[in-house]
Formats: sequence, structure tokens, C-alpha cells
Amino acid sequence: MTRPEWESLCDGCGRCCLHKLREDDTGALHFTEVACRLLDTSTARCADYANRRARVPDCVKLSAGKLGRIDWLPPTCAYRLVAEGRDLPSWHPLVSGRAETVREAGVSVAGRCVAERRAGPLEKHIALWPGRVPKRAGPLPPANAPPDARPNARPDAPPDALQGPAA
Ligand code: SF4
Repeated sequence: MTRPEWESLCDGCGRCCLHKLREDDTGALHFTEVACRLLDTSTARCADYANRRARVPDCVKLSAGKLGRIDWLPPTCAYRLVAEGRDLPSWHPLVSGRAETVREAGVSVAGRCVAERRAGPLEKHIALWPGRVPKRAGPLPPANAPPDARPNARPDAPPDALQGPAA
């Protein structure tokens, strides 16, 4: 897969650009509804995608090799879906032909996340919805990959307390 093909898998939902919290003692992961400071909360687009890793040092550049060690991608993320052996869902822009279907399916964070500069303590913004498949999105296509090839299968995921945008 070429880099442009890889990048085109990203549906632009912005879910990976929400801060996450990880409990020190259990490793349990909690999504929050607080966006990375570079994320435009009304469009779910990165305000400086080309320079994001210079401006947000813990922003992760996703690659196929890293997927097995990452446990914080939302269940709707196309990179996770592909790694799990699933087809892309009908609302994915590569299937629908329209970027708007991500928002119509309730997958985009646009208009429903909190700007980092206004948020205050992240602990007050823990939310379940970023880690769930919205009802409007419908069921995900079935998984075909063997379990040990899937993301989240490895217990040695990076112990980051906070994560930035990943695409
Ligand atoms: S990398 Fe995944 S979670 Fe992040 S914006 Fe793209 S599709 Fe959404």
C-alpha cells in the first residue's frame, strides 16, 4: 500500500485526536471528549497536519507495524478495521464517496468534543462514546483476521497517559 493509499484509509473522524487517560495500576484506558489542541472541534480536522508532530510531540504517526501495539484506536477506525480483517463500512468515504457520511453516521467528533484550552482536568471529561460504535453507524462488517493479528491483542501497548492525533 502506498503512503497516499494508507492515508486515504483515515476517515477523518478525529476520535484518535481525543485525549485518553490510562490508570497507572491497572493499565485501564479511558477515552475523554477533550480534543488535542490542534484539532478544530467544529470540523474534526487537524489545524496543522503537516507539522503536527513537531507541535504535539506525543502525536503518533500510525503505521501498519505499530497497529498491534496500539490499544487506543476507536472501534470504528479504518486502520483498526483493516487490521481486524474487516471490510470498510458503508459510511466510510472510500465506500460512500462522500466525506459527510462520517458525520451523518455519528462517527465524527465534530461539534461534540471539548477544546483542550477550555477543558480543565481531563478526569472530568471521561466519556464512553469515543470507544463505541454509534447506533447510526450500524453494525461493523464481520472480522476475519486471526485474533493474534488484531490490534489490542498484545498486552504491551504503550503506557501513554495521553495520546495525540494518530493519522
Ligand atoms: S486514524 Fe482512525 S480514529 Fe483517527 S481520524 Fe483516522 S479513522 Fe479516525
